[in-house]
Amino acid sequence: MTAVYLDWNASSTLRPQAQAAVTAALAVTGNPSSVHAAGRAARRLVEEARERVAALVGAAPGEVVFTSGGTEANMLALSPTMGDTLLVSAIEHPSVIGGGRFAKVDQIPVTSAGELDLAALEARLRGRTRPLVSVMLANNETGAIQPVAQAAAMVHAAGGLIHVDAVQAPGRIACDVKTLGADLMTLSAHKIGGPQGVGALIRRATTNPAPLIIGGGQERGARAGTENVAGIAGFGVAAQVVADAVQNEAERMTVLRDRLETGIRAIEPKAVIFAADVPRLPNTTLYGLAGMKAETAVIAFDLAGIALSSGAACSSGKVAPSHVLAAMGVAPELARSAIRVSLGYLTTPDDIEAFLNAWAKVKESLYKARNKHEIAA
Ligand code: PLP
Repeated sequence: MTAVYLDWNASSTLRPQAQAAVTAALAVTGNPSSVHAAGRAARRLVEEARERVAALVGAAPGEVVFTSGGTEANMLALSPTMGDTLLVSAIEHPSVIGGGRFAKVDQIPVTSAGELDLAALEARLRGRTRPLVSVMLANNETGAIQPVAQAAAMVHAAGGLIHVDAVQAPGRIACDVKTLGADLMTLSAHKIGGPQGVGALIRRATTNPAPLIIGGGQERGARAGTENVAGIAGFGVAAQVVADAVQNEAERMTVLRDRLETGIRAIEPKAVIFAADVPRLPNTTLYGLAGMKAETAVIAFDLAGIALSSGAACSSGKVAPSHVLAAMGVAPELARSAIRVSLGYLTTPDDIEAFLNAWAKVKESLYKARNKHEIAA
């Protein structure tokens, strides 16, 4: 049985064009910092990729700092040189919610619909002099798109800077640093069909995060260490493919996602789709059914040949319900049942039907297991 992969928010299949770029770059000898021809060839690969990644989000190439991924870019962004206090939304990725290099972090609540509470942000900005605020563009669990441009305007009016974790956005929705008003933006290659272990921090000219890694002065002193040339080359090509394809892919995924959600509800009308009332990524559905245990359901789906996650991949295995659903005020029993289905560029209508067949069986077995008790509404 070929597994149907529906866990694209956790990681995506390497795009063939990116794979070709990685393979070609691995054959290039030379350190990008060396002045000889071999070094210059490696440097060219890095700089071409920098241009492509910058173009994906409307930034200048000089604003791109390559990192080992989204986690490192988030840690780099959350530097105490960027503000005297840190505010982050309550639904951020663990690499942001921990506060990076700030000793103290305050959270901004979200609404029960899964969106940043802008009135709460405004209240929390009052009286601060140089706040750094971190708000993700799209949530990795619910897919809820956050009102980043409005938040940025408020933060700037308060004399602060805003960091935007945009890891889940490119290829799915428009993602432009200037339109969003982002001062710092995090990207990750493996979420857009590039290789794992490479990402970038877009650092606008107004910002100056202190480096996390100090050494040979690479990345204009922002991130030392010989560049991951092959990974960076693959990231650049993936960025270019995604930039060209965003409109078509988003429309195609919306159709698939709508069929998916209609099917989930037709099989079990009591299923709850989280953040369904706010704008969401076209590829993400997080749903739950009170009484179901997400860990058990994920295993049952796996046995049926469907790969998906319970909430965020990084928190799988933990019994505690997702901090995102907790922040939305979802009851713990319902939150513990949350299953995330996320689609990508290879997802087909047949994959959706295969998922729905499996869901019908998973749901059936659940009812059998609890045959004496109706699943709670
Ligand atoms: N930010 C968000 C919103 C994510 O979903 C992830 C990955 O799951 C990351 C950051 C971390 O990115 P990486 O896996 O490249 O470290």
